[in-house]
Amino acid sequence: MSTVHDRADVVIVGAGILGAAVAYFAASAGLSVTVVERGSIAAGTTSRCEGNLLVSDKEVGPELELALYSQTLWRGELAEHAADWEFEAKGGLVVSSSSRGKAALDALVTHQRGLGIHVDDVADAAALREIEPYLNPSMAGGAYYPEDAQVQPVLAAHHLLRLARERGARLLTHTTVGAIHVVRGRATGVETTAGRIDAGAVVICAGPWSGEVAALAGVRVPVLPRRGFVLVTEPVPATVHHKVYSAEYVENVASSDAGLQVSSVVEGTPSGTILMGASRERVGFDPSFSSEAVGRVARAGIELFPVLADVQIMRTYSGFRPYCPDHLPVVGEDARVPGLWLAAGHEGAGIGLSVGTAKLLVQSLRGEETDLSLEPFRPHRFEERVPA
Ligand SMILES: Cc1cc2nc3c(=O)[nH]c(=O)nc-3n(C[C@H](O)[C@H](O)[C@H](O)COP(=O)(O)OP(=O)(O)OC[C@H]3O[C@@H](n4cnc5c(N)ncnc54)[C@H](O)[C@@H]3O)c2cc1C
Repeated sequence: MSTVHDRADVVIVGAGILGAAVAYFAASAGLSVTVVERGSIAAGTTSRCEGNLLVSDKEVGPELELALYSQTLWRGELAEHAADWEFEAKGGLVVSSSSRGKAALDALVTHQRGLGIHVDDVADAAALREIEPYLNPSMAGGAYYPEDAQVQPVLAAHHLLRLARERGARLLTHTTVGAIHVVRGRATGVETTAGRIDAGAVVICAGPWSGEVAALAGVRVPVLPRRGFVLVTEPVPATVHHKVYSAEYVENVASSDAGLQVSSVVEGTPSGTILMGASRERVGFDPSFSSEAVGRVARAGIELFPVLADVQIMRTYSGFRPYCPDHLPVVGEDARVPGLWLAAGHEGAGIGLSVGTAKLLVQSLRGEETDLSLEPFRPHRFEERVPA
């Protein structure tokens, strides 16, 4: 193994989607960048998710603003690379099985429209079936979000890193960060299995392991794993045309319950396979198969699309969403240890939010005014005292 004793403006811990996006924007801004990854590119949660870029599932607030900002980047300055990461503007359809649920969805839609989100009302079951012919005819109605899109997350991470490296960034894979150097209260670099790297900024992009890595600098950042299973069917002729999910999904995303929660999310892919999710449970980093979670995800999917009862499940996979207790990511410099930065904790939305997060973080790192305030995402917020 080669030994480095190196210096960079920015050292990034983790080469998932967040590390890749931060590397891209930092290198594009002319900073010298080294990315350190203990496995290979996208070895963590980024290779165990679905890659939806959603505005539809966000409640009104800072996360939705970050999602909208990220959408402008995916569709704007990054659009020339869209084919590299299979950007697909597939649209999202949220459906409700009851008139009570439809009324709650309508209230959310009203708020979202106020923020400029394009949402089409889908009044009843007949209108739903015009959009998705195989949908359960007993649904009460829904809302269609043409701005919801999708990318292939592993490709996105690979290509953002390729672009970063073309701009001078260095990538060390199969190299673990085992210590963070803190000198007179300031983070000054990292110790890796390949040697020491000094840096003006240490940026933790370690997904669900970010809390462990932050602890190396002596700070507590409560990023926890929230496990989710995805079921992949055999390829079938076009059956599901959009990302389709039940309105309860929004509630489950926002819930802090540690127990198993399941709501149906079903989407077709260009290859003909259908992806079915979504389960959420806090079981630490337990990778074992759960027949209960998988069974409930399958039943929920069949409830939405009864035709799926006759389709074979080809495989399942699971991943650990990086979850923060207040459901907001941690982005920016940690006031407790200047020089220590975080871009983590995006839970089930890290692919969509990655590019906005990274651009804002790099603006802040360069001392520029940020396009959106990072205040709601400050990493040290969990330990601030509430004035009496
Ligand atoms: C089932 C499921 C479905 C999902 N669907 C979507 C979706 O549709 N849309 C969406 O936007 N998001 C989705 N997500 C969430 C998304 O996958 C994550 O938010 C995102 O991948 C997090 O990326 P990351 O770069 O922060 O973390 P990761 O991809 O986990 O990357 C962190 C990296 O850090 C490395 N690392 C850790 N510790 C060290 C160390 N000490 N030294 C060096 N390297 C280290 C790890 O090896 C890893 O590669 C889903 C998640 C799951 C589980």
